[in-house]
Amino acid sequence: MACARYLVDAGHKPIVYEARDVLGGKVSAWQDKDGDWIETGLHIFFGAYPNMMNLFKELNIEDRLQWKKHQMIFAMQELPGEFTSFEFIPGVPSPINFGLAILSNQKMLTWLEKLQTAPPLIPMLIEGQPFIDAQDELSVTDFMRKYGMPERINEEVFVAMAKALDFIDPDKLSMTVVLTAMNRFLNEDDGLQMAFLDGNQPERLCAPMKEYIEARGGKVLLKSPVKEICTNADGSVSHLLMRSGEKIVADEYISAMPVDIMKRFVPKAWSTMPFFKQFDELEGIPVINIHMWFDRKLKNVDHLCFSRSPLLSVYADMSTTCKEYYDEKKSMLELVFAPCSPIAGGKTNWIAKSDEEIIAATMGELARLFPTEVAVDGSKAKLLKYAVVKTPRSVYAAIPGRNKFRPSQKTPIPNFTLAGDWTSQKFLGSMEGAVLGGKLAAEVVCDRAAGIASTKEEKPIQASVYRKAANAVPKEPSGVLGVGAIAFGGGSIVTPGAVLKEIAEQDAVQLTPLG
Ligand SMILES: Cc1cc2nc3c(=O)[nH]c(=O)nc-3n(C[C@H](O)[C@H](O)[C@H](O)COP(=O)(O)OP(=O)(O)OC[C@H]3O[C@@H](n4cnc5c(N)ncnc54)[C@H](O)[C@@H]3O)c2cc1C
Repeated sequence: MACARYLVDAGHKPIVYEARDVLGGKVSAWQDKDGDWIETGLHIFFGAYPNMMNLFKELNIEDRLQWKKHQMIFAMQELPGEFTSFEFIPGVPSPINFGLAILSNQKMLTWLEKLQTAPPLIPMLIEGQPFIDAQDELSVTDFMRKYGMPERINEEVFVAMAKALDFIDPDKLSMTVVLTAMNRFLNEDDGLQMAFLDGNQPERLCAPMKEYIEARGGKVLLKSPVKEICTNADGSVSHLLMRSGEKIVADEYISAMPVDIMKRFVPKAWSTMPFFKQFDELEGIPVINIHMWFDRKLKNVDHLCFSRSPLLSVYADMSTTCKEYYDEKKSMLELVFAPCSPIAGGKTNWIAKSDEEIIAATMGELARLFPTEVAVDGSKAKLLKYAVVKTPRSVYAAIPGRNKFRPSQKTPIPNFTLAGDWTSQKFLGSMEGAVLGGKLAAEVVCDRAAGIASTKEEKPIQASVYRKAANAVPKEPSGVLGVGAIAFGGGSIVTPGAVLKEIAEQDAVQLTPLG
């Protein structure tokens, strides 16, 4: 949709074919039988999201961003029920405000640890992207050890950052991700300031985007899954074959499908081309988003909290932080559960576990975080209901060495372009990354339509990919097998029947029981 928005701005008439009956992909949400909204993920917007902020401005919905105080709040591991924070002083420019926020916190790191932490990060500010990219082969833990950073910074800061950025533990996450995030956040004075959308994403964000596109001659169609990308003898796209049997012929074709889904669509004629072979090196990371409704208001803060617990990443009491979900009497916690599987650093494959097991484990963590209010046996705050949304293939797993395989938006196919958060752009797998990926894809298409030689440099393809491509056997695309959200790279409540069967048929590895 972001790409379509840029295309209509440039005078084109894009048609968006969305497989599902709801807009938003990984930012989609839907209502349960009580009318409560169930979100694929707890989503936070940052001051350092320039393209996203422009979008809100142009859609005239800036007032829907609920900006919170410029601070980062962490649960204290050794002091259950207590929080500590990095406080950013208003008016102090970045990166000084960040430095002061860390220095003035006395509860997380000692003075010596703070002094040992800063020097390895300075080249990130001075040398910028070349230094950041050069660290991609190292995990966060490798980088810390290489540069003599104190071990405790891992527990105190990096666990929280790694899980929030990519749902992965620091020993599995590429250091490039942490440095990229820091660099983007520190580029702007309010880069780390966070905002919640004031309600559900499909109505509050996606619907205005659809209106914007359609008011300018484009179209956004739901329940329109693409079945196959069909090619001409020269390899260019001849048409899209829809599940309905309809053939779609266009001047240009853009895929905004997530990487795991796009891999299933690569036509046989492209399957041995190095550009498309790169996709084999990328895969989505699993994550679970949990909603828990309690019978009372828990002690809470009007902000995002970094739990730093082994099972949880970030969480928020949405009955306080989000206008549409506001309730002064009862709490609704939304919690991101990660890591969910061995690829993300966990020992257990939580995607294969039942909702009951996941909720029991989460209650255990909450009892530790809020010991005066939550007890595992339910004798304190009562859990009224819950919803567990599993996204087995979310953002691309930014494990070491992956960044170089993220493809450019421009492809070797003359009428086919890529968009999506996993394509090469400087904002990682995020909402801002998805908007920027869409913008870059639109630029490729607009340049071509205007007969201008592309201004975009083609990203070099790795020698290892060329070697694999040389030995590859052409392969028919497998296509998407299911009809549910997970089949299209989204998240869903996994019921024992149909949804489980779909995962088993399409992505059986997700159901391997471990731990
Ligand atoms: C739990 C969770 C929490 C997150 N928190 C944050 C956060 O706080 N901040 C942040 O910036 N990001 C966050 N993210 C990441 C963010 O959601 C993604 O980076 C972003 O939404 C990706 O957008 P996308 O358009 O690239 O892909 P998607 O959102 O996956 O969109 C792809 C679309 O393609 C459609 N599609 C797929 N196959 C077909 C087909 N065959 N035919 C037609 N349509 C098809 C899908 O249905 C989908 O709508 C979070 C993600 C999750 C899962």
